[in-house]
Amino acid sequence: MFENLSERLDRSFKLLKGEGKITEINVAETLKDVRKALLDADVNYKVAKQFTDTVKEKALGQNVLTSVKPSQLMVKIVHDELARLMGGTAIDVELKSSPAVILMSGLQGSGKTTFSGKLANMLKSKKGKNPLLVACDVYRPAAIEQLRVLGEQIGVPVYSEIDSKNPVQIALNAVKEARAKGHDLVIVDTAGRLAIDEQMMNEIAAIKKALNPDEILFVVDSMTGQDAVNTAKEFNERLDFNGVVLTKLDGDTRGGAALSIRSVVDKPIKFVGTGEKMDALDIFHPERMADRILGMGDIVSLVERAQEQYDEEEAKRLQKKIAKNQFDFNDFISQIQQIKKMGNLKELASMIPGVGKALKDIDIDDNAFKGIEAIIYSMTPAERSNPAILNGSRRARIAKGSGTSIQEVNKLIKQFDETRKMMKMMTAMKPGSKKLPSMR
Ligand code: GDP
Repeated sequence: MFENLSERLDRSFKLLKGEGKITEINVAETLKDVRKALLDADVNYKVAKQFTDTVKEKALGQNVLTSVKPSQLMVKIVHDELARLMGGTAIDVELKSSPAVILMSGLQGSGKTTFSGKLANMLKSKKGKNPLLVACDVYRPAAIEQLRVLGEQIGVPVYSEIDSKNPVQIALNAVKEARAKGHDLVIVDTAGRLAIDEQMMNEIAAIKKALNPDEILFVVDSMTGQDAVNTAKEFNERLDFNGVVLTKLDGDTRGGAALSIRSVVDKPIKFVGTGEKMDALDIFHPERMADRILGMGDIVSLVERAQEQYDEEEAKRLQKKIAKNQFDFNDFISQIQQIKKMGNLKELASMIPGVGKALKDIDIDDNAFKGIEAIIYSMTPAERSNPAILNGSRRARIAKGSGTSIQEVNKLIKQFDETRKMMKMMTAMKPGSKKLPSMR
């Protein structure tokens, strides 16, 4: 995501290289380029103009310290302005009532149902909430079924009334049910249409009036660019929603929606969806997003994801095995599973500063581990826990079983041996300490 924008901005900053200070003349050329880059990323025209005007004002007012190059200063100013444009700080959902009610709004296909599931999952696991999901789409039975399946996946009950055609009544009944069953959170998924129409707006406005929700979230597909901004405007005029959810940020969106929505509707982006799976949801941090747009990486988010998956017991167990040179293929594969749980590989790599740009044209897909996994799964339990017995005929059998070649099997075993040696060395290098270099 944002690859093009990030590259274009980088190029425009280079225009300033070699200049001793920021002047009206050199800044004008850079900013013309910055504005073009924003427009090409589908940022709203007025937003782009205002953005470059502000950056110019700030840049010309700065005393350029001799130790800072004008281009570096410019990156800093643009970074801070991008973060400000997207809202400055992260803003959480406010859940005050008991039960608290969150109402979803947005067009069909924007990702409302998926997000309802993701949010229930996040608030349940991170905030200890006991949510009830509510299916209020009375037009598409498939939508009710979709929510039911998601609910089952994340262990959250779903309230629905198959025969009812009255979404307001369904929502009210659901809140009653939540109260009776001790749920402290009700998440209401509503019907969407392919385009805005009066009936849909009246219906969701009626649900809002009846429920008086704590939060109304507007869900929008970030791939729709300028349309996303226009739809947001119309929904906001009718519903006065509290926050925006940008979905499908894992696709190759040009980023315009993320950059324009906040200043056009003056409502914060609260969450971003980054995949179809139930854990592909992030809280929106404007600062970190600005880092990513400028190719500065997003180490903070990366570390947070690693920490979420980090299992202290498992780490201790591994340390002991490594020290005794007993690290085996079972451990190897469980490490691969942990990395995979952290998410899409290319997306992870792009969070590392400087790596995003380098990876632009390289295709890393999540199948990168497939061959390795197939080889390991073709080993017998005895071979996995005691790689020393892997002789020629065993290797040939494994190659056949995994649909790979003997060369590939040999290569993996060699890599494994080297990794093992290196790990052993790392533990041995720290005399007096039984610890591996800390992961935290
Ligand atoms: P609704 O009609 O608004 O309820 O939209 P859905 O929740 O049914 O989502 C429409 C499609 O978008 C589904 O195929 C989802 O799997 C997909 N989707 C939703 N959120 C995301 C996301 O963040 N990333 C990706 N790649 N796909 C998503």
